[in-house]
Amino acid sequence: MLRKLLSALLVVLVVLLGVSVYFTFFGKQDAVSERTAEPEVTAVPEEPAPTPTPEPTIDPALFTDTDSLLIVANKKHKLPDGYVPADLVTPDIAQTAACTMRAPAAEAIAEMSRAAAEDGVYLKISSAYRGEDYQRTLYSGYSASYGSETADTISSRPGYSDHQTGLAADFVEGDGSLNGINFNPSFEETASGNWLREHAHEYGFIMRYPKDKQEITGYAYEPWHFRYIGVEYATAIYETDVFYTFEEFFDVEGGDYAD
Ligand SMILES: [Zn+2]
Repeated sequence: MLRKLLSALLVVLVVLLGVSVYFTFFGKQDAVSERTAEPEVTAVPEEPAPTPTPEPTIDPALFTDTDSLLIVANKKHKLPDGYVPADLVTPDIAQTAACTMRAPAAEAIAEMSRAAAEDGVYLKISSAYRGEDYQRTLYSGYSASYGSETADTISSRPGYSDHQTGLAADFVEGDGSLNGINFNPSFEETASGNWLREHAHEYGFIMRYPKDKQEITGYAYEPWHFRYIGVEYATAIYETDVFYTFEEFFDVEGGDYAD
């Protein structure tokens, strides 16, 4: 009986020894392999709080350099006397009168016209580059008919026109006749007006004189007048607000004439 008890105890001891050896050996092995597989994690430094992306710093020379696509023509910024862009070409878009634009704007407006057509919208322009002399004639005519105060609200003085940059165009619906829609705020309701407001930025154009921004741009709402500034900036302006202005975005002085 005692022998049986002792041998049973021995068996238990052997088993216990075996188990402890097993865990001592293989347990360590596991720990080692774990360490090998997963290197000790070093403390990751906390990410610094993201700083807001600063508005792009623009070299102010780009607003006066006539080669720049950001050249400014408004009632506070006159173009150099007798300025004529050197790269005027005829854009591939329907026109009610022969138009020319600076090459980069012409290329973009042609691409925009093709894209609009794919959406069933047929863009047409009636005026793009206007020379200083032509602008003088236009302004004098308005001045003679309505007085200079009224003329200043509907036409630029020579040297101050966005059209003289060769980067702007006026869009018309239909045959371009003055039917109460063309050169009228209600142009915004036309197929062209709607399409341009939502898509022009994709081709680098902005609505140059948005609604309710006369004190900033110097002009009443012109949903038909678009200005090329390049896709990057046009998109940034559109994404800020569909009626955000060039003057606000670039912090450029605008408003009325100084005198
Ligand atoms: Zn215009």
